[in-house]
Amino acid sequence: MASFQTNQFNTYIAKWAACQQRDPEAVGHFFCAVKTTGIYCQPTCAARPNRENVIFYGTRQNAERDGFRACKRCKPDDHN
Ligand SMILES: [Zn+2]
Repeated sequence: MASFQTNQFNTYIAKWAACQQRDPEAVGHFFCAVKTTGIYCQPTCAARPNRENVIFYGTRQNAERDGFRACKRCKPDDHN
């Protein structure tokens, strides 16, 4: 991991904006889980969930602990 001085994705708004833009810089910073599907994704995933159904996690382990499974399209569990 590169040594990031600050986490530019430390607010809900910043995370949501990164998801909307599929910002590749956001990969590795957080994951977005969708309550209605039980799936969690990379921020760059093509899936476009409704904002009210999205939960952000800093690690995929936390998402999985809450019962979410890795998306088969963006494969968030492929990264370390
Ligand atoms: Zn996905």
